[in-house]
Amino acid sequence: MSAYTWGTQGACVGTPTPDLWHPNGNGVQAQRETQEASRICMMCPIQIECLQYAIDNRVTGVWGGVRIPEGNISGEDRAYKPRMYLDSL
Ligand code: SF4
Repeated sequence: MSAYTWGTQGACVGTPTPDLWHPNGNGVQAQRETQEASRICMMCPIQIECLQYAIDNRVTGVWGGVRIPEGNISGEDRAYKPRMYLDSL
């Protein structure tokens, strides 16, 4: 499945609050945004594909229900399968 194809099926597509997936810093507001974005991600039908994309492409923000700060996923971690990554949380 290509990134574009699955990306259009995300639970976050068309949301009125897209900034939730791009929290700034580590303050209370960022934590609330991360929690709300993650709650929506947990109901998303493409959660696994989304997290795999984030791991493969070193993106930041909330992907697949996981907040990925800049530089947080090492080359070693990128070899993880998304399901294993999610199960480890
Ligand atoms: S898992 Fe979360 S960030 Fe990824 S497409 Fe679904 S709702 Fe959007």
